[in-house]
Amino acid sequence: MHPTLHIGGLQAFSSIDYPGELAAVVFLQGCPWRCGYCHNPELQSRQADAYMDWPGLEAFLGQRRGLLDAIVFSGGEPTLQPGLTPALQAIQAMGFKTGLHSAGCYPERLAAALPYLDWVGLDIKSLPQDYPDLTATPHSGAAAWTSLELLLASQTGHEVRITLDASLFHHNRLPRLIDSLQRAGVKNLALQQLNPPLADPEGQKKALLERLQDDCTHQFAQLILRNA
Ligand code: SF4
Repeated sequence: MHPTLHIGGLQAFSSIDYPGELAAVVFLQGCPWRCGYCHNPELQSRQADAYMDWPGLEAFLGQRRGLLDAIVFSGGEPTLQPGLTPALQAIQAMGFKTGLHSAGCYPERLAAALPYLDWVGLDIKSLPQDYPDLTATPHSGAAAWTSLELLLASQTGHEVRITLDASLFHHNRLPRLIDSLQRAGVKNLALQQLNPPLADPEGQKKALLERLQDDCTHQFAQLILRNA
């Protein structure tokens, strides 16, 4: 039995989706959340036509042995699909490193996948209580922060990403979020601009980000301000 995957897209080559490695990115279809700033809304629906199935992906990977280091699953939300873990096992058996981009929607599926993942980029959008305003989904904050705990307790390399949504620039939310992540044990943190970036005519957001980077750099092994 081969893994069952609903693949929504494939990027054959990327140098930015797995740290330091050349990777292909497999986009899995479907996400249970509805973030207003979603960068891949066409991947939210679970019903969309599949771009490729597992035999097609396996054939692609067979041609890329020696050319790619890693295969990264992105989405959508890859942990939505029960076939993720068997696919990771099969890909590691082919000799590739495995990576995952996740918002942490399904902690139990993430826990099952972690032993077969070499690296995870986990989105943490806000403190738990503020999640439903961003995701339009009850209890999403608890799921994401439980996923964070599981990732930090594992041996898997990680980067936690904060997407710089407008709400984080009010009520001191961004400094409080960074502080909570540091106390939770996050070592590698990236602050990512929305696409397109938020308007900042007075330069106030830029000034806050630069100040936070100066103040917080020593608390993390890596603190990146990406596309800022
Ligand atoms: S969790 Fe990610 S993929 Fe899902 S709706 Fe939000 S931004 Fe889009």
